[in-house]
Amino acid sequence: MNMQAPTRPIRTTCPYCGVGCGVLATPLAGGGLVIEGDPDHPANFGRLCVKGSALGETVGLKGRLLTPRIDGREAGWDEALDLIARRFSETIARHGPDSVAFYVSGQLLTEDYYVANKLMKGFIGSANIDTNSRLCMASSVAGHRRAFGSDTVPGLYEDLEQADCVVLVGSNLAWCHPVLYQRLAAARETRGTKVIVIDPRRTATCDIADLHLALAPGSDAALFNLLLAEIDRRGLIDPAFAANLDGLSEALTAARATLPSSTGLMHSELQRFLQLWTSSEKVVTVYSQGINQSDSGTDKVNAILNCHLATGRIGRPGMGPFSVTGQPNAMGGREVGGLANMLACHLEIENPAHRDAVQGFWAAPRMASKPGLKAVDMFRAVEDGRIKALWIICTNPAVSMPEADRVARAIAGCDFVAVSDMFGDTDTARLAHVVLPATGWAEKDGTVTNSERRISRQRRTLAAPGQARDDWRILAEVGSRMGWSDAFAWSSAAEIFAEHAALSGVAGALGSDFDISDYAGITAQDYDRLQPFLWPQSATRKGGRFFADGRFHHPNGKGRMIAVAPMPPQPLSREYPFRLNTGRVRDHWHTMTRTGLSPRLSRHLAEPYLELHPEDAAALSLAPASLAQVDSPYGRAILRVLVTDRVARGHPFAPIHWTGQTAPSGRVGALIDPTIDPVSGQPASKSTAVVIRPFAAA
Ligand code: SF4
Repeated sequence: MNMQAPTRPIRTTCPYCGVGCGVLATPLAGGGLVIEGDPDHPANFGRLCVKGSALGETVGLKGRLLTPRIDGREAGWDEALDLIARRFSETIARHGPDSVAFYVSGQLLTEDYYVANKLMKGFIGSANIDTNSRLCMASSVAGHRRAFGSDTVPGLYEDLEQADCVVLVGSNLAWCHPVLYQRLAAARETRGTKVIVIDPRRTATCDIADLHLALAPGSDAALFNLLLAEIDRRGLIDPAFAANLDGLSEALTAARATLPSSTGLMHSELQRFLQLWTSSEKVVTVYSQGINQSDSGTDKVNAILNCHLATGRIGRPGMGPFSVTGQPNAMGGREVGGLANMLACHLEIENPAHRDAVQGFWAAPRMASKPGLKAVDMFRAVEDGRIKALWIICTNPAVSMPEADRVARAIAGCDFVAVSDMFGDTDTARLAHVVLPATGWAEKDGTVTNSERRISRQRRTLAAPGQARDDWRILAEVGSRMGWSDAFAWSSAAEIFAEHAALSGVAGALGSDFDISDYAGITAQDYDRLQPFLWPQSATRKGGRFFADGRFHHPNGKGRMIAVAPMPPQPLSREYPFRLNTGRVRDHWHTMTRTGLSPRLSRHLAEPYLELHPEDAAALSLAPASLAQVDSPYGRAILRVLVTDRVARGHPFAPIHWTGQTAPSGRVGALIDPTIDPVSGQPASKSTAVVIRPFAAA
């Protein structure tokens, strides 16, 4: 699989978190890659975190699937693709388009995502395509759309460096977005930026915090309601900006009704926060999974957005709300409509004019006319037989979904399951009828969009191993075999990008914020040379920030404040008396299919663990490094005990990465409560009632 060593490194993009760092990858004559940070990439200016630096250790052949497999035996591509096309076509003919589904991933490149979305929504005629990004940032999407009328991230990374005060809420930036954290830490050194961390846990991010608020779990909306009331009390509502907002008085009424005691904070802590935020015009509020992964995540997002809208602190240098995405291409997936309730280019599936425009552009025979099933509901439909054919692409839901045991059983019981993956032995791939070998990060051409709306090229640096193929090509070949060869006839990722850009021009004419029509008809050469750029890029808009002019994307042009009634998290019980929090560790990614290949990365934290407060550990007779059995109403995990006062009493923490293939099983997804936010459909992955006891081996 070695390529000729180039004379120059190849510019590409890191495939892990949403920071989207530029990477210089130099293939070695004997195989593998030398990895450096790209000094010219505006996301990282040459920096890389430990995961990005170790990319060269994860590109070998270990574990790679090299040929298609059908029912465990090796098969040819034609046989496997024909089988998928036939089973999907037969199922649709017998049971209708809503009897099939795709479950995809924020790891896919935008071009892959575009093809999957086009096939399902325009040609199969269902919107049953959802993504693991549903577990990550769906509440931010829903909050943006309620407030702005569009899923728009208003600001840029440089805002964190220009701010006087940066609030990190529900975000362990130091571990989950390390290079952005490094940029913030450097700015703090030179500018004296005040940093506030709001998190029930004392995470590594607290190392640079001027103030850490260990608020009561789930009380974020109450905290930001109190801030909104304080903004009003101090006369900081911007009257000119507020004239362009709907819902101000209702939001204020809800805010004034919020009780300070609901946050669990001391009066002095709360006052310090209110003072720092309100006295800093240049304030950025960064938020992530601690906000999104909640059964009231959308309300929490809107409680934050309300404060920036009321003060007009949005879209100007050094100020604004900022949702940082977990995955490398969560944003690209949103741009192509990779969520079950969206259309391509930020158009709306429930808007007939939007649907007609996309259908006309695609010359699509049967356009989906209603939202499809979101992730949790999709696997419920697999379980009860409504979904009879499922294609899982580039993700491992048998580990990562909430209530993962039930999800694994549902996949195992489905009439027909295809999986496309780099690896043939994941917990999910082992349940599939057909497993297809897909190319990985170093072998693919395409684009990704990072958290600040910057689109960057991912470039092929190594040849595909064995018979592995690109995801867009696999999808297009199935689309052709299902009878739509003209619509899926691209010969390169560049052609797909050009088509997506042309469609964005159609969307832009309908008022969509996402418009990159400058690149419609881009040549293969220009695509190859494409430099990182911010969207929008069109005749009328060239990158930059949104909303400083007070113009939003609701039909009346106004922004919208939402009246938020803070919801406490689900109550605990005598049977399940602990509230389990979950999240990532610094050196691993998702279910470790790649980072697990690097001995260096595995040294940081070698096995699944449970962080437990010393008083809880003593009460449970759990010594440090002993094994704990953790049970929820949904499943069980066995975890190594880490006794620490970084977590509060009653609120243990466990990382999400380990799979059913580790012993003892650290598969934390099996524990997680599948309750979802009713607006966004995002599961409440940070709040599961559990019981903990010493593990006694059978
Ligand atoms: Fe990759 Fe994120 Fe690390 Fe940058 S910060 S190198 S994108 S994992």
